[in-house]
Amino acid sequence: MSPPKKLAQRTPPLPSPSDPQPSTLIAQPSPSPLRIETDVACTVCGCVCDDLSLHFQGGQIVRVERACVLAEPWFAALAQAAPPAAFLGMQVATHEQAITAAVEILSHSQAPLIYGLSRSSTPGQRAAVELAERVGATIDTTASICHGPSIMAIQEVGESTCTLGEVACRADLVVFWGANPAVSHPRHFERYSLDPKSDLLPRGRADRRVILINDVLNESAAFADRFVAVPECRDYELIWQLRELVRNEEAVVSANSVLPAEELRSLAREFKRCRYGVVFFGLGLAQSKQGHLVVSALLELVADLNAHTRFAARRLRIPGDVAGADSVLCWQTGFPFAVNMGRGYPRYNPGEFSAQNLLERGEVDSCVLVGTESIREFSEQAQAHLATIPTIVLEYPHIEPQVPGHVRFTTSVYGIHATGTAYRMDETPIPLRQLCSSPYPTDERVLREILRRLGDGFPPQVLPQPSRNTLDD
Ligand code: SF4
Repeated sequence: MSPPKKLAQRTPPLPSPSDPQPSTLIAQPSPSPLRIETDVACTVCGCVCDDLSLHFQGGQIVRVERACVLAEPWFAALAQAAPPAAFLGMQVATHEQAITAAVEILSHSQAPLIYGLSRSSTPGQRAAVELAERVGATIDTTASICHGPSIMAIQEVGESTCTLGEVACRADLVVFWGANPAVSHPRHFERYSLDPKSDLLPRGRADRRVILINDVLNESAAFADRFVAVPECRDYELIWQLRELVRNEEAVVSANSVLPAEELRSLAREFKRCRYGVVFFGLGLAQSKQGHLVVSALLELVADLNAHTRFAARRLRIPGDVAGADSVLCWQTGFPFAVNMGRGYPRYNPGEFSAQNLLERGEVDSCVLVGTESIREFSEQAQAHLATIPTIVLEYPHIEPQVPGHVRFTTSVYGIHATGTAYRMDETPIPLRQLCSSPYPTDERVLREILRRLGDGFPPQVLPQPSRNTLDD
């Protein structure tokens, strides 16, 4: 796989966290009657907070309550946006013209790629898998440039897991490793990991220990009781040293260990002596060098800790429904990302069938992008090839696509304009309601129309694919 970009490039360039704004005016109120929708789920990040309130007047969002610094501008942009429903290149087009052009592109493509899906929802993700099957495409999610290595690690060694509800009610030790949740998931502390009170943790934050382990001091350190600085790329060593000390507290610590011996021993002791521990790990581990091995080691450390106490590991997933995209691909194809349908059945091979690698090797001749927010994370080589092939872009109205697209559809937003399901970072499905109408179709409708127009007889034959060293060859 291509070397990962620096974590800093993936961290949203946003101010430090604060408690959610109790109420923010995002558009001028009108004389129309006010309607308030409560318990609205936010799909901006993997927390999928489902306690927001939206105020509507004249079918427009005018105020949002309990939105964090990430969510507030997202809703504000949504309230203002009204782009045309379809484009051909830079020209405004009718929906029908755009569907015809999309069908034309896919009909003449021998190696299509369908990519993205983390800004979609279960219905759109299912339709995308169906389209991939029909046209013999490779389908990949944003996981392949985020927590793909973590998924590979989980497949290899298993995962001791829990829901965020368990964390809120039980966890008296919370560890963040290779992450900056204060910026990437601003309400995580308040809703799940630091502040919640329960019968087991009646004083909330005062009953918890919070440890941040990272290579640099970041905004989350202000919320932690302890910060452990790990030199860059030495997490793997640290995890193995902790494994040794968890098994044997008297084990000899070598002079050149990652941390001073006493610091290492006290960290292992803290891990072992909690009543319920959880480690949330981020891209600082998953996208480090040999990230799947680092995450495998962490998951094994967590398994070891379960001989002494209850301990769980969870990924801190960033985009709203990346967990849903993986889940839908899993239940539809058996695999979570990087799936090729070129032979008429699913084949899984990260690296070979990961979107970025396919693009870098020039093995893709058309691309359907369901959400474009992660394209800027691709290598220059991959982006350069993407610019040379026909692209069909499906994007929300308030998001400027990272790729202009030969064909572009503006699609309605799940959880605002359409019903759907978003999977929280702990894989708990959260239902999304329709709160108002939209002039735009859902991505599911667009993809299903393309499918219908391609017809049952497509493709006329299974196209031969280049033979590669795949798992089933
Ligand atoms: S923490 Fe995430 S899900 Fe919750 S309100 Fe902020 S952006 Fe939305």
